[in-house]
Amino acid sequence: MGATAPIGVAIVGGGPAGLSAGLQLVRANRRIAILDSNRPRHSATLQSHGFLTRDGAPPLELRRIGREEFEAYPTATFAQSIVREIEPLDPDEARGIGFPDGIGFAVRGTGVRGAPDVEFRARRVLVTAGLTEELPDLPMIRAFYGTALHSCVECDGFEKSDKPLVLIGETSDVFARALLISRFSSDLIVFTNAADTVTAHQEQQLAAIGIRVERRRIDDIVGERAEMTGVRLSDGEVIPRVGGFVRPRWHAPVEFLGDRALARDDWGLIVVSDRGETSLRGVYAAGDIVPPGPQQLIIAAGEGARVAGKMNMDLIRGALGVGQVDD
Ligand SMILES: Cc1cc2nc3c(=O)[nH]c(=O)nc-3n(C[C@H](O)[C@H](O)[C@H](O)COP(=O)(O)OP(=O)(O)OC[C@H]3O[C@@H](n4cnc5c(N)ncnc54)[C@H](O)[C@@H]3O)c2cc1C
Repeated sequence: MGATAPIGVAIVGGGPAGLSAGLQLVRANRRIAILDSNRPRHSATLQSHGFLTRDGAPPLELRRIGREEFEAYPTATFAQSIVREIEPLDPDEARGIGFPDGIGFAVRGTGVRGAPDVEFRARRVLVTAGLTEELPDLPMIRAFYGTALHSCVECDGFEKSDKPLVLIGETSDVFARALLISRFSSDLIVFTNAADTVTAHQEQQLAAIGIRVERRRIDDIVGERAEMTGVRLSDGEVIPRVGGFVRPRWHAPVEFLGDRALARDDWGLIVVSDRGETSLRGVYAAGDIVPPGPQQLIIAAGEGARVAGKMNMDLIRGALGVGQVDD
């Protein structure tokens, strides 16, 4: 078992949201631990786009630089571990270890890649654990995800300009996504995989700008080596396509909170206040895991920094007993 000293904030997840929040908080003279299992959603991809000053950088490189900048501060701890359990402390126990407002949490993680297990006592928790993805159930789709197929149109649309594209989606936001992709290529087919998620009216609107809706069930994605060449439908017809976008279903991985259910929206994302606090007092969240869901690296980093500022003020106010809202 590793460090157990009381700290200001335990951050679950060392992606751009968590690293950025961590940097702000160590610079506010707080003792901060980031616990990260190193399983980012974008691990399938080799290049990230649109992060100012780092356009085209490998996402792992961004994380490495971010971790180095965070760890340069003496009050920073970066633990390679999977958080398994977060448990609120009894208020008397919290005060007993120096948490003046009686709010605190025990955060326990299992070490990964040979790192030791860790346990921290933290005044506040920030959940920046990102999302896990469930792609449509097609045998070969993973092989093309992150290269020919992507999920973030803003991140990867530019590289797909003027190509014959797919949008594969089984959810109600497929229409809006198709409109967004139409900025990059006029040769787009929307595959619903037999889900009833594009209305007849939307189909007409798409047809008016040259986008076809294909409602037959998909059998699989086909290709040669790493190159995607088409979409095979369940009746055997192969429609030639070189790449495009897929709309995964996303899940917020907060099992470590056990039965303490956090408020969620209709998509299952973790609902937070304007200050970034969840429905559980003292537990904050930022990045892809909060509505509106998956966005971009720079947005996750910006939100992490914003919420860190709110948490710092919450810690100051909690210590002085002067209420919670910072206005
Ligand atoms: C294929 C793909 C390509 C993308 N390309 C781009 C791009 O080009 N440009 C761009 O701007 N955005 C891109 N994105 C989006 C971008 O990756 C996300 O918006 C961003 O990473 C979200 O940051 P985050 O900090 O919220 O979460 P993540 O970056 O997902 O980080 C969450 C971290 O939390 C950790 N974690 C989860 N659960 C636990 C736990 N219990 N204990 C400890 N750690 C835990 C995970 O291992 C992970 O390291 C892409 C996404 C994908 C899927």
